[in-house]
Formats: sequence, structure tokens, C-alpha cells
Amino acid sequence: MDCIFCKIAAGQIPSKKVHEDDRVFAFHDIDPKAPKHILIIPKKHLASLAHAEPGDEALLGRLLHTAAEIARDHGMDKGYRVVISTGPEGGQTVHHLHLHLLGGRQMHWPPG
Ligand code: AMP
Ligand code: ZN
Repeated sequence: MDCIFCKIAAGQIPSKKVHEDDRVFAFHDIDPKAPKHILIIPKKHLASLAHAEPGDEALLGRLLHTAAEIARDHGMDKGYRVVISTGPEGGQTVHHLHLHLLGGRQMHWPPG
């Protein structure tokens, strides 16, 4: 599988890791869009949120809960935003499901 995030999760491509467990990996975004910008991914390759199946429900919950724990551990006590870009109109550029955890500044609505 020629997938950059699979390779990051496997340690084959270096990253600034912030969390790893048996199913989830998290690392700093290489091009941060906020003072704190962390990506949370499943170790299992899922091309996007749109590719999730009923058997992935626990994994999806795990990803969200991990985002909340990382936010707490990184002092995002005033709030943060979690974004899942999905598909072409969603602006997804890496085709391995990832949650963007953004914090450290005021977020605005609507996003771009
Ligand atoms: P998206 O555009 O929502 O698919 O998000 C992909 C994200 O992956 C972007 O924010 C990129 O900056 C980030 N990214 C791409 N390659 C790497 C990498 N090697 N290490 C860390 N983040 C990356
Ligand atoms: Zn992958």
C-alpha cells in the first residue's frame, strides 16, 4: 500500500509523534494551520470517512476520544476544532482517514 500515512503509522516515514496505541497514531501536521495542529489517524488504512463501514464504529469513536484526550494533554482548555476533510469537495488531499485537531487560536465560522 503506497500510502504516506500508513508509512508514518508504521514508522517508515518520520513524524513528530504525539500518541500511539494499538489502533491509533497521532502526530504534528507538517504544515500547521494553527499554533497547535495534530493529525489523528487509524493504523488501519481507511481511505476516508466515506469508506467507513458498520464494523468501524468503535474505531471512529476511539479516534474522536483520542482527539479529546490529546487536546486536554496539550492544554487546549479554551477549546479546539476537529475537522475531517472528506472527498474532493471536502478538500481531502491525503487519502487515509485523519482527524485534524486544531487549537491555540480563535476559530471562525464558516471555514474555508
Ligand atoms: P487534508 O488536506 O485534510 O487531506 O489533510 C492532509 C494534511 O496532511 C495536511 O494538513 C498536510 O499538511 C498534512 N501532511 C501531509 N504530509 C504530511 C507529513 N509527511 N507529515 C505530517 N503531516 C503531513
Ligand atoms: Zn493508509
